[in-house]
Amino acid sequence: MTRPGENHRTDHTPYPVGLRLAGRRVLVVGGGHVAQRRIPALIRAGADVVVVSPDVTPSVEGLTGVLTWHAREFEPADLDGAWYALALTDDPAVNAAVAEAAEERRIFCVRGDDASESSAWTPAVGRHGHLTVAVLANREPRLSAGVRDEIMTGLRDGTISARAGLDTTAGVVLVGGGPGDPELVTVAARHALASADVVVADRLAPRELLDELPAHVELVDVAKLPRGRHTTQEVINETIVNRALEGKRVVRFKGGDNYVFGRGYEEVIACQEAGVPVTVVPGLTSSISVPARAGIPVTHRGVAHEFTVISGHVPPGHPTSLVDWSAVARMRGTVVLLMAVENAPLIATTLMEGGRDAGTPVAVVVEGTLPEERTVLTTLGSLAADLVAHEVRPPAIIVVGQVVAVAKPGHYGLA
Ligand code: SAH
Repeated sequence: MTRPGENHRTDHTPYPVGLRLAGRRVLVVGGGHVAQRRIPALIRAGADVVVVSPDVTPSVEGLTGVLTWHAREFEPADLDGAWYALALTDDPAVNAAVAEAAEERRIFCVRGDDASESSAWTPAVGRHGHLTVAVLANREPRLSAGVRDEIMTGLRDGTISARAGLDTTAGVVLVGGGPGDPELVTVAARHALASADVVVADRLAPRELLDELPAHVELVDVAKLPRGRHTTQEVINETIVNRALEGKRVVRFKGGDNYVFGRGYEEVIACQEAGVPVTVVPGLTSSISVPARAGIPVTHRGVAHEFTVISGHVPPGHPTSLVDWSAVARMRGTVVLLMAVENAPLIATTLMEGGRDAGTPVAVVVEGTLPEERTVLTTLGSLAADLVAHEVRPPAIIVVGQVVAVAKPGHYGLA
């Protein structure tokens, strides 16, 4: 006689399905690292997760409240009311008992230790917008994870087009592209680019990603906009608003984060005034990530308890300057200067006059995270001369403070 479920031990291909677990009980037996990896997706699916295990990892314990934890051994009655079960202990005998009790109750059960004895398999999963990718291989988890990774990469870089899974409604999305290395854009930024009809890109936005845009996407390169009666910013505002009013989905793509000296909020206001829906995808700002990639932390325990990010595009003492440079000079923490190459000599003098030591270490990171990246190490007193000597041109970030010496010792007469 064939026992129910015996077929699953043969080599039939699995039948894929998407379980809608919201509000349904799912039993997880075991609370170790395997369970810890599986539980978040169950919670995300809205399942009523019940964990049975004498011990659980601290992060599973931290989820009590979202899930129910019974701190004891498994009993077959734990399956009562469950729609799905996962046997994830490190004891094969316990997993076998769970699988057998589940089989009797016709509840599908995953065994973490033995796929050939499982009535269900967990696929390798990836998510892209509203799209879920699930890959099953025949008991070869490395193969399924590898294929999943390839698909996810294709979806992100546009090799596989999946606009269907993304929000493509008309409007404007302000997207921060990070400091320049395309590896440093967020997943949300990738999704936004894949959803765009129009991309309005700045000079400092990661250019390589623009090459990946499908042919139907209109690319407006802000660096190439003709200069005329209007300022460039007015032209940009008009462009994004008008395209959105034509029913297009417009991505305003910039370097770093749109709200850090990016004029992003001016664009938000322009959209709001025109009644155009506008959303924001924050980016990794160059003010922190460029020093980090160059090996310099902006804070360090016992060294700097604050960092100040300042735009140097207006020189100290200029009537339109909004910076209290004497206050900055009195502070002890790290100063990160953006757009400051031209005014750096005057800024250095102002900081020294305000009390900062001429020997304060300074790092100038040029073209951070890009193939041409280089770092010039100097001091406040020598900054002006070294910018000339090393032919520093924008984009560059100037980091002033002892954190530079912590990361790059030996260049300042320090140990
Ligand atoms: N919104 C951006 C900053 C715009 S201001 C952000 O959050 O990063 C432009 C200035 O940023 C440049 O003049 C330079 O000081 C700095 N910058 C941006 N990208 C940089 C990079 N890859 N390397 C060095 N400096 C960079």
